[in-house]
Amino acid sequence: LELIDGIFGIYCNYQSLLDYSERDALTGLFNRKTFDEQFSRHAFALAPHEAHSLDNNERRNGGETKAHWLAVVDIDHFKQVNDQFGHLYGDEVLILVANILRTSFRSHDRIFRFGGEEFVILLRSTTLADASKIFDRFRQHVQEYDFPQVGKVTVSLGFVGISQETPVVILGHADQALYHAKKNGRNRICYYDELVTSGVLSNEISTNDIVEFF
Ligand code: GH3
Ligand code: MG
Ligand code: MG
Repeated sequence: LELIDGIFGIYCNYQSLLDYSERDALTGLFNRKTFDEQFSRHAFALAPHEAHSLDNNERRNGGETKAHWLAVVDIDHFKQVNDQFGHLYGDEVLILVANILRTSFRSHDRIFRFGGEEFVILLRSTTLADASKIFDRFRQHVQEYDFPQVGKVTVSLGFVGISQETPVVILGHADQALYHAKKNGRNRICYYDELVTSGVLSNEISTNDIVEFF
């Protein structure tokens, strides 16, 4: 029994070390390093026969077909939070936004802290209509939350359906949608395909710039 207990202890330590290297120290969310691995491990990358891009008809109907989705979230005017209240309050906002993220999504979805005040969500198997609803509900949760001292904080979000493209291209598209949300008033969600269909995106940034950036 002692031997088993000893081995179990070593295993637990090993697990927590692994966990530590996969997670962001401030928020406890997955870090950027684990994104690529999680992206394929959790079957967010669709098998070729499942690859699905919504046709125009489905877009009009709100999309009945299920797909996986990727969203990039960025806190609005976060620099002002730091400038006005200091870094400690800024950090607290990051922790609280991470908590809202955890309670807004299901356990089989995946949430990452990607950069300073940027988060990525992988949303599993749902329709376009539901994905929009879920992402917007999260945006609303943040808007309604009373942050101690700081008061009100909002987020912008860009999202896209996960296709056979590489993670870099998919992230680039979500980021273009986010950029559009920022340029059009913030505190909103934007869907990449809709922006492309309506022709508003092509005037803003070229995909090459985004890909180069990532
Ligand atoms: P926008 O609405 O366009 O996103 O404006 P913004 O001010 O949020 O954007 P910007 O990218 O200029 O500012 C991000 C800020 O996030 C700058 C940096 O000081 C802050 N930041 C990044 N990482 C951390 C962190 O770990 N803690 C704190 N407190 N601040 C951070
Ligand atoms: Mg940012
Ligand atoms: Mg920001």
